[in-house]
Amino acid sequence: MNKYQEALKWFKSIFREIGTEQYYENLGLRFGQGLNESIETIEELVDKETPMKTIFSKELGVTTCGSCKKYLVSSNNWIPKYCSECGQKIDWGNEE
Ligand SMILES: [Zn+2]
Repeated sequence: MNKYQEALKWFKSIFREIGTEQYYENLGLRFGQGLNESIETIEELVDKETPMKTIFSKELGVTTCGSCKKYLVSSNNWIPKYCSECGQKIDWGNEE
């Protein structure tokens, strides 16, 4: 678990422990999104910063982003740490 996942886990457990979504709404704390929707939004951000394995297509001979499936462009002396399309942090695994 990385530091972002760890922090999210803390906030999720704290907010859900204190009260339900209705509890926060009654206090006027809606901020456009409800509690669960807000947690999901932050989860998306945490997932982007959590390295995801690439997908290699043998047929096409290309490597794609595990998240958005777009081609990842790299060269012998430059390997991107993030997908330029969706911002996903990339885990190159053994392909590095
Ligand atoms: Zn991507």
